[in-house]
Amino acid sequence: MKTTFDILSEHKSNMLEKTLVILKPCTVQRSLCGEILHRFERKGLRLVGMKMQWLTDEILNEHYAHLSTKPFFQRVKNSMMASPVVVCCFEGVDAIHSVRLLAGPTNGRLADPGTIRGDYSMSFQENIVHTSDCQDTAATEIARFFKPEELFDYKQVSFDYLYANDEF
Ligand code: ADP
Repeated sequence: MKTTFDILSEHKSNMLEKTLVILKPCTVQRSLCGEILHRFERKGLRLVGMKMQWLTDEILNEHYAHLSTKPFFQRVKNSMMASPVVVCCFEGVDAIHSVRLLAGPTNGRLADPGTIRGDYSMSFQENIVHTSDCQDTAATEIARFFKPEELFDYKQVSFDYLYANDEF
């Protein structure tokens, strides 16, 4: 069985990456936004964009195009339109894969304790967060939800204490 270290080693780009995180309606309705944001923040990811918005059928058809033939497609879209969501962009070295590991696998019931879905979800669908799954998807998704001026570049004062200088 592959260890988390093996998985991370295979995926590491050693590059600063941006990734999209959506706090789903279940998270907003269960008043968990602060707790979930805290998970990403305390990991050391830099928050570079955040806003609340309603998702539309149009945007979800694009966002979940890979699920369009699935029998549960409409149910997933309805769930994502049940209340506003909070859309975030986080940045860090290998952030895309690190954020996926933090989130855990799709089905909350099968997610390990310690992951966000493992700690907060009992569902395949109501699973707290969406996270980008690879570099191409992350770039497309960030552009879908954020205008360039809605993303912020600023000095993260803790940066030198988060990484060794040969890690990126
Ligand atoms: P992930 O969110 O882990 O990247 P997918 O991109 O495969 O997973 O699916 C997108 C979303 O669709 C999931 O987060 C979940 O809300 C929903 N979903 C996926 N598969 C199922 C399923 N078998 N039953 C119900 N909902 C599902």
